[in-house]
Amino acid sequence: MGKLQLILLGAPGAGKGTQAGLLSQQLGLVHISSGDLLREAQSKGTELGNVAKSYMEKGLLVPDEIIIRLILEHITVPQCRGGFILDGFPRTLEQAKALDETGEGQNLVIDRVIYINISVQELLRRLSGRWLCQRCQTPYHMVASPPKVAGRCDRCGGELYQRPDDSVEAVQKRLEVYFAQTTPLIEYYQQGGKLMEVNGEQDISQVNEEIMALLG
Ligand code: ADP
Ligand code: ADP
Ligand code: ZN
Repeated sequence: MGKLQLILLGAPGAGKGTQAGLLSQQLGLVHISSGDLLREAQSKGTELGNVAKSYMEKGLLVPDEIIIRLILEHITVPQCRGGFILDGFPRTLEQAKALDETGEGQNLVIDRVIYINISVQELLRRLSGRWLCQRCQTPYHMVASPPKVAGRCDRCGGELYQRPDDSVEAVQKRLEVYFAQTTPLIEYYQQGGKLMEVNGEQDISQVNEEIMALLG
């Protein structure tokens, strides 16, 4: 398999971060998570982080121009020349078009878009049980994917925490935003001939195998 430039698409809680972590190791791709980058900016207290926080805590999308600039900064670095996997970006048609426009000139053309399909009922179960590593952002689930030692990350020993926007109220808003603003991307990439759909309701390892098989 040559160098790959992938997008993982799916609702909050579909398993994008989980699968991106596995694929980046298996395929040697740089994992770029828009949510992780925004949370990192927040914890550093940068101006970008402060602006982003006011949207994120309400479950709203950060304005397109802010996130487009941040992501383009990250995918144009030399480390990404061997391939990358975008997790959580793009989330609006405007973002997808900006990526396409930059891509043409700069060798950033997306090869495949992996759409992880999952029911709302299952999303709610996943988000309410999600715990993340404070240090390396690895996601865990208290039932489906618990850490070996309670409260600690298997990979780095970091402390686990629950995201404030995984609260019931914020999740409600995030799902509304997903259906209104992000689902049009499914058709957009289908028309571009790039979409691959996987059944996100299987076990973590089964979803991973389905993706690997589709990538050939
Ligand atoms: P999830 O893993 O549940 O899908 P993320 O960590 O990807 O959530 O995103 C958390 C929040 O960060 C979003 O609710 C939104 O406020 C902001 N965000 C992340 N990616 C984007 C994006 N591409 N465009 C706008 N806002 C974004
Ligand atoms: P996203 O990045 O799309 O928001 P995550 O990868 O953070 O989703 O997964 C959301 C939650 O669901 C986490 O707690 C994660 O451990 C769990 N999870 C991910 N994939 C599966 C799966 N296939 N089956 C059960 N739980 C899963
Ligand atoms: Zn960790």
